[in-house]
Amino acid sequence: MIPDFEVTILGNTSSIPVHGRHHTAQVVRFGQDFLLLDCGEAMQLQARAYKVKVSKISNIFISHLHGDHYYGLIGLLSSYSLGKRTTPLTIYGPKGLDDIITTNFRYSNTKFPYPLNFVETHDDGLNLLLETSRYQVFSFPLKHRLPTTGFLVKEKHGLRSMIKEKLLQNEVPLAAIQSLRQGEDYKDEQGKVYKVKTYTYPLPPLRSYAYCSDTIYNPELKQYIKNADLLYHESTFMEDNLERAAVTYHSTAKQAAEIAKMSQVKKLLLGHFSSRYVHLEPLLEEAKTIFENSILSEEGSIYAL
Ligand SMILES: [Zn+2]
Repeated sequence: MIPDFEVTILGNTSSIPVHGRHHTAQVVRFGQDFLLLDCGEAMQLQARAYKVKVSKISNIFISHLHGDHYYGLIGLLSSYSLGKRTTPLTIYGPKGLDDIITTNFRYSNTKFPYPLNFVETHDDGLNLLLETSRYQVFSFPLKHRLPTTGFLVKEKHGLRSMIKEKLLQNEVPLAAIQSLRQGEDYKDEQGKVYKVKTYTYPLPPLRSYAYCSDTIYNPELKQYIKNADLLYHESTFMEDNLERAAVTYHSTAKQAAEIAKMSQVKKLLLGHFSSRYVHLEPLLEEAKTIFENSILSEEGSIYAL
């Protein structure tokens, strides 16, 4: 069975939350697993509005320490304490985040009823942060004003499905089935060989989601996000603010589209919009001049991979 793999956008704005938009936060669901990517200040309310169960989140990934990407985290951890959460939680983020959390809760004398782990991220290449039987989460470096990482969620192959007709036509020992499902040919004691390609369906293509929160235009990103099914890339500005984008280490919609094109991703999801834009259609139009399969992220929308 192919697990669901989808992204729910809870917030997609930069700097000041205006025009009904909220600070960055998104939930990636892979099967029964819920991952939170960044946690802007209204994350809990947004999750409630869009019926995302925050109690199911097991791993939180923070891209960098600008407030619009993590000021919702202290509130979320507090709510977990009040809600008597007992399941473990792991936070992945840059150096300093564990200090910030510890200091906050030391002064509020809060005790966590759940195990809370912290894993420091590093902006020095592709780093594996989390691995399950069906997917991996990597961090990769982004170029911004602070140490910043993007995240790549990559599907892994599960067990292969057997072709039922072949099982009915031939007697296949259980040990062979176990081996074939794992993608390995099997040879029985009489020397009879059972081939994977004969007895199992071909594997579906593996899906991947790349998240680039805040970054200056950086073609080097290509090596990390190549062929992603869905790329979320910040597009804080439009080309008329090209200089401002460079000074603040952000990207324009056109630059995001150029990264999508050179990385040969299937779809580009634009986000992290500046508060100066009330209407976002012009950003989409700008991106589409370079990369046709671009869409504007919408809060509350779910994007399936
Ligand atoms: Zn930032």
